[in-house]
Amino acid sequence: MKSQFRASAVNASVREAYVEASSFLEACEVQDARVVCELLLQHVLGVSRSELLLTWSEPFPAARATAWREGIQRKAEGEPVQYIIGETEFYGITLGVGPGVLIPRPETELLVEHMMHEGVRAFGQGVQLTLADVGTGSGAIPVTIARHCPAWRVYASDLSPQALAIAQKNAAACGVREQITFFEGDLLRPFIEGRIEVDMLISNPPYIPAREIPSLQPEVRLYEPHLALIGGEDGLEPYRRLCEQLPELPKLPTLVGFEVGMGQAEDVAALLRACGDYEIHFVKDLAGIDRHVIGVREK
Ligand code: GLN
Repeated sequence: MKSQFRASAVNASVREAYVEASSFLEACEVQDARVVCELLLQHVLGVSRSELLLTWSEPFPAARATAWREGIQRKAEGEPVQYIIGETEFYGITLGVGPGVLIPRPETELLVEHMMHEGVRAFGQGVQLTLADVGTGSGAIPVTIARHCPAWRVYASDLSPQALAIAQKNAAACGVREQITFFEGDLLRPFIEGRIEVDMLISNPPYIPAREIPSLQPEVRLYEPHLALIGGEDGLEPYRRLCEQLPELPKLPTLVGFEVGMGQAEDVAALLRACGDYEIHFVKDLAGIDRHVIGVREK
């Protein structure tokens, strides 16, 4: 039985409420309890980080006490803070997230960054190119790229209608809804059927081997969608199927960027090499793991 958050300090100042809740979360062994508490506090009080500093000694607003208690309790039970507050930061923008989509990870920011560079290197600055992001989830990849590369034509697909609804909302909130076309469908199927020529293909598909699910952190295992996590028996199934579908596209993409799990880079590179004459390189994440498999071929 999890402990119950009673929040006696809500009659006191914002600072006291914060101290009480962060000690409670620490006692519940929540990681980064203070950071999480600050995010929840901003959300519950509807203030930015800098505004929060100005409210520190003010009385905690009674009208927000229930929301505060509930948010802290959900966190104590293990729910990711991003689902509780309904948003996350990704590559400098705020994206809406909910239980139907994976919470975008910082490694994916590196993929976005790298692929924008590769695109400009291969096609030139400001040149129109066509990008497809497969398994888009919250839309983190297409939305950020569309924001930074207004000349690019962007497509995004996902199998889950729930994910597509969130991705479309994010695109609208970031002012790029017109620049992105969304498809519901399995991996490259919508692009094959629509005979869409894609210059750059990006995907961060589910890649966790099914047998490893029991050993994931509870925050991930109990809350994030398994459709977005599990990549079949060995975690490589989505890459195998993507590489099987690639030659069915009207033309092979000039650039391919896949995010992969730990220890998968060589296997994914071999799959990609087998579909065409791709020059392959890897991009490491901040932990030094080969995290992205990038393929480049002649236009
Ligand atoms: N492409 C999305 C992201 O990078 C979703 C990934 C997924 O659900 N596996 O966040």
